[in-house]
Amino acid sequence: MTGRKRWAKQQEYSRAYKARLMSTPEGRAELALRRRLHRYKMTRDEYAALTAAAENRCMICGNEETAVDGKGNVKTLSVDHCHETGRIRGLLCNTCNRAIGLLRDSPTLLREAAKYLEGS
Ligand SMILES: [Zn+2]
Repeated sequence: MTGRKRWAKQQEYSRAYKARLMSTPEGRAELALRRRLHRYKMTRDEYAALTAAAENRCMICGNEETAVDGKGNVKTLSVDHCHETGRIRGLLCNTCNRAIGLLRDSPTLLREAAKYLEGS
């Protein structure tokens, strides 16, 4: 078998494998987990430790995730990370993750926002 034919066969196998996984909710969850682990360069054990530490609650507000995806399923907590170093900071709900992002992940701006709110 030539390299090209072997590559085509591997692609076909990969597509069939992915299609089989996508056909069940558990398979889709597994693929989503793999994407997440790849994106954040984490092992399953590291991710399991992070989710266990968070007890499925946002590490800022303490609430469980309520945001839903396009199909109406509640999203998983977001993996918050430093955009400069890539260091994983924790798990956040969609609202808190967006809020700190809108304030440019700046502790100074977040403190100023708190002072502003407390002063009103
Ligand atoms: Zn939150």
